[in-house]
Amino acid sequence: MEKIDLANDLSVSRIGLGTWAIGGWMWGGTNVREAIETIRGAVDRGVTLIDTAPVYGFGRSEEIVGEALAKGDLRRRAHIATKAGLNWLEPGSDPYRDSRPERIRREIEDSLRRLRTDYIDLYQIHWPDPETPIEETARVLGELYREGKIRAVGVSNFSPAQMDDFRQEAPLHIVQSPYNLFERGIEEDVLPYADRTGLVVLCYGALCRGLLSGGIRADRIFAGDDLRKSDPKFQPDRLPHYLAAVEELKRLARERYGKSVLVLAVRWALDKGPNVALWGARRPDQLNPLEEIGGWTIDEEGMADIDAILRRHVPIPIGPEFMAPPLRHLADA
Ligand code: NAP
Repeated sequence: MEKIDLANDLSVSRIGLGTWAIGGWMWGGTNVREAIETIRGAVDRGVTLIDTAPVYGFGRSEEIVGEALAKGDLRRRAHIATKAGLNWLEPGSDPYRDSRPERIRREIEDSLRRLRTDYIDLYQIHWPDPETPIEETARVLGELYREGKIRAVGVSNFSPAQMDDFRQEAPLHIVQSPYNLFERGIEEDVLPYADRTGLVVLCYGALCRGLLSGGIRADRIFAGDDLRKSDPKFQPDRLPHYLAAVEELKRLARERYGKSVLVLAVRWALDKGPNVALWGARRPDQLNPLEEIGGWTIDEEGMADIDAILRRHVPIPIGPEFMAPPLRHLADA
């Protein structure tokens, strides 16, 4: 497993396990036994970074991560990344942005309890909150860092200008941003910024919520509250174009590299600049292709051919903006 340094002496695997779906909410429910096996299996196979958030299942994902890592020496072998800065009126209601210092101080205690730990390896502000001055939020993260409650400081979904403001008040080690073959917005701003400033980039949605797994068919029915029911890419007017691109990428992956499209998609994300790719999985078998990610890279010609496939089928790509939570004053209204 390839590794990188997140901060100080914090070395993590370049593949991180994403546990949003494990929380159930917006993913049509969860199976706790399978989720725990997935997390434990991931650590056993060298995936040492587990990414979660309080909002994933309104505490459920963190609780499951805590339970999974409570066994044996798993907590010592794994690094937990969690987040703060989203609030909700009641479990199941739409979360809204809230990075006020008092909210973060409360959230960290709740997260530590649910995760059954006394420190968090990487603590990230989930979404920028324009109704709270960034410096106030940064200051409280700086305090938590100095207190030893968190070992690295991160932000997620922040622009370079917002990160500049944050760094006036606190150290910043990582940024977590959306990035995959179909969602490449950060190539314009966050990736060059991280390159210049030495920030570590974690990219989320490396499989574009399963679209790049190669297993999605046009007639797939998503259950319950699965967010793909409202994901613009999964709608009948767009899905056929994305699936046509996936079919061509499948062929390229197989013929040129002897790999699946899922392996190509994760390798592509790692080769394009991000230091870590987060892979959302909720069943142990979903991580089976893990061992095929390492030991090779996509050459220049492969990169160019991939770009040509994307241009042909998705000339006007659509971003992941539909996932952005509302501001506090709109949620309260
Ligand atoms: P993702 O990794 O792009 O896709 C995850 C989905 O892909 C899985 O739930 C599964 O869907 C499918 N999948 C995974 N492995 C598969 C396999 N081997 N074969 C077939 N299908 C497979 O999406 P994501 O979970 O949204 O993103 C990854 C992580 O990034 C999240 O879990 C979370 O930790 C983080 N994230 C952060 C933010 C943020 O704002 N900071 C936003 C989004 C995500 P099914 O189980 O339905 O088949």
